[in-house]
Amino acid sequence: MSHFINKLQLQAELNRCLQCKTQPCMNACPVSCNPREFIAFARANAWNDAVHTITRNNPMGLTCGLICPDKFCMAACTRARIDFPINIPKIQAAILHSHRQASDALTCAEPNGQKIAIIGAGPAGMAAASRLVRAGFQIDIFEARKEIGGALNMIPDERLPHDIIEEDWKFIMIPDRIRLHLNAKIDDPNALCDAFDAIIVATGEPNCTPLNIPGEELSTSYMDYLYDPQKFKTSGNVAIIGGGNVAADCAMTAISLGAASVEMFIRRGLSDMKISRKDFLELLEKHIQLNGMTSPVRIEKTQDHLTLWVRKNHFIDNKWSPLEDTTHQLPYFDLVIRAIGSRADQKKDDSPRVIYAGDCKTGGSTIVEAISSGLSAAGTLIATLLHS
Ligand SMILES: Cc1cc2nc3c(=O)[nH]c(=O)nc-3n(C[C@H](O)[C@H](O)[C@H](O)COP(=O)(O)OP(=O)(O)OC[C@H]3O[C@@H](n4cnc5c(N)ncnc54)[C@H](O)[C@@H]3O)c2cc1C
Ligand code: SF4
Repeated sequence: MSHFINKLQLQAELNRCLQCKTQPCMNACPVSCNPREFIAFARANAWNDAVHTITRNNPMGLTCGLICPDKFCMAACTRARIDFPINIPKIQAAILHSHRQASDALTCAEPNGQKIAIIGAGPAGMAAASRLVRAGFQIDIFEARKEIGGALNMIPDERLPHDIIEEDWKFIMIPDRIRLHLNAKIDDPNALCDAFDAIIVATGEPNCTPLNIPGEELSTSYMDYLYDPQKFKTSGNVAIIGGGNVAADCAMTAISLGAASVEMFIRRGLSDMKISRKDFLELLEKHIQLNGMTSPVRIEKTQDHLTLWVRKNHFIDNKWSPLEDTTHQLPYFDLVIRAIGSRADQKKDDSPRVIYAGDCKTGGSTIVEAISSGLSAAGTLIATLLHS
């Protein structure tokens, strides 16, 4: 399966663009990428200019092209009011995939003698590195895991293969200016203060929200599951607790790895699920059972299976509350995955030399918002360290 639209589809999408003067697509993009401009260049076969328009604002344009949600540029696209929006992310991905060359790497200023540490190599850390290195800083990135990309590595390969993240990284990484330390967890940013002029903390939300029910330890966190789903390969019945995008990714992964059945348990109504229409329809297509207004009560281990006790909820006095006498048991699960959210590390440093960026600062967001946050943290450091 190709992750990219073909040449004909690309041409058709390019031709549909109205070249709106007001540029609602650009205004809706968290990094102010300019679709009207790169589409105009692409129509004129000026591919280098199209590539440059994308990469000057977005150091991870290829990855964004595959997974940016449709709530930004596409939701604002004028064409949506005529028939359907231009698939701007897919155009962006196709342009970069087919036309970005080694010579498109952005140029760097002369080294300015200052050193920055970045903790976390997710989109926020990678974006911050891209901007700082070009302003002449020496960068050291410390990443707890074995690879770059952060939470993006939990996205199933069908939506985002890891190679795509590496492809963007190739254009960020400048070997003598950026040192990447993998398997390097930093517990206290202050420990780096002596060696660096400033520190950007971009550690995301590494802690899964607990269910706080008896038997929770019998369940698997979505992080453990999605970082290495093969380890949990099951041909049996899988329960997913949660109804957002991450829970949907768990469900799709379990089905694609051969689960006999997958059921999602969602505290609210199905119409309140925070997922796109496309993802919702995909869950139905794959016969994933959606149990709305249902919460877990406890998990028990029986001889062969896990028993999940659940209860129904109702919406009363403006909140979701348990519906009495509805607790019942489902004794047939082989794997129960909890996917109800995540949290940043609690402790925040108030030193002016430590800046926070991405999901650890804003809470769970999207790739392009994390990139925007990383770029703006870098901009703050450039302003304070170079221009004050
Ligand atoms: C399953 C899933 C699907 C998603 N799907 C989409 C999608 O389709 N579209 C979209 O736009 N967004 C999606 N997202 C959200 C997106 O991935 C995040 O918003 C984004 O990755 C946040 O970037 P970040 O750099 O702030 O944090 P992260 O990506 O979480 O990166 C933080 C990095 O810091 C490292 N780290 C943590 N603590 C330490 C420490 N003490 N020392 C060193 N390193 C540390 C972590 O290992 C990690 O690599 C999805 C998220 C998940 C989990
Ligand atoms: S809003 Fe849509 S139609 Fe208008 S310039 Fe942007 S992509 Fe083209």
